[in-house]
Amino acid sequence: MGQIKLNQVTKSFGDVNVIPPLDLTIEDGEFTVFVGPSGCGKSTLLRLIAGLEDISSGQIQIDGQDATNVPPAKRGLAMVFQSYALYPHMSVRKNIAFPMKMAGIDEAEQNRRIESAAKALNLTDYLDRRPGQLSGGQRQRVAIGRAIVREPAAFLFDEPLSNLDAALRVGMRLEISELHKRLKTTMIYVTHDQVEAMTMADKIVVLRAGNIEQVGSPLDLYHNPRNEFVAGFIGSPK
Ligand code: ADP
Ligand code: MG
Repeated sequence: MGQIKLNQVTKSFGDVNVIPPLDLTIEDGEFTVFVGPSGCGKSTLLRLIAGLEDISSGQIQIDGQDATNVPPAKRGLAMVFQSYALYPHMSVRKNIAFPMKMAGIDEAEQNRRIESAAKALNLTDYLDRRPGQLSGGQRQRVAIGRAIVREPAAFLFDEPLSNLDAALRVGMRLEISELHKRLKTTMIYVTHDQVEAMTMADKIVVLRAGNIEQVGSPLDLYHNPRNEFVAGFIGSPK
């Protein structure tokens, strides 16, 4: 399960309103991409969904339940950041195991999930290495592995590939898309990269200054951009 619903959600920092009242439904299993220019509120929106920031007003529902006041660790969501935030002194295995250890999952189950995630992410041969002995792409895979083993209702990605070089980025895009096909888990993916949005999304949410300019499939947006801003982002002339 992994339906996420925002009802009239707002967010202000002091006097500055970053997210005006916003309604959005993300269906279970959907790959949704938030796209928009730097500073438009993509990360803020993701952090509100994750519970890492409190909303100023409105309601967030996860699978039909009010999650507005549910703490991040209890929302059943896993966030993957661009800075991999791995523990440098721990092996890959221990890095992946860490959230399960915190959640009190027994060791046999931990090992089962680690083996399965490592297989899915081509990390089987790297489990005993430290993050410093891995490439950028491999480190990003470990970060994704650490999210997978929590078996979340949804994955939240905040520009996970922006630190990787262009060639690696293309490969990782495909890997994340494959992962989504295999797991069929809800994924919300934040990027300012139009190509990522167009190639990965089931549904694209185009944001400008905290407002949703348009929501639709890549083809919808390509053929029927609502305005010049959307057209500019999706790259078809209008
Ligand atoms: P994006 O991820 O699309 O680049 P952000 O969500 O990071 O945008 O930021 C949206 C706006 O909110 C920006 O104007 C940013 O300066 C502001 N903002 C984000 N976090 C904070 C914060 N903790 N305090 C004050 N302003 C913030
Ligand atoms: Mg951001």
